[in-house]
Amino acid sequence: MASNKPLVHRGTKSWWTGDVKTLCGLTIPRGDAKSPWFIKPACPQCEAIHEARKRK
Ligand SMILES: [Zn+2]
Repeated sequence: MASNKPLVHRGTKSWWTGDVKTLCGLTIPRGDAKSPWFIKPACPQCEAIHEARKRK
């Protein structure tokens, strides 16, 4: 059975709206900001983009 584990995304929080825009293109409304950002597994797309940006 598929448990829908939340992924940890990398993103930036908008200071004026409170919404979080993730590297993989998601927008998480501030109401959902209680998502477990610091628990694995990490979102592979966010990680890939983060790595790609690092090695510029
Ligand atoms: Zn992501």
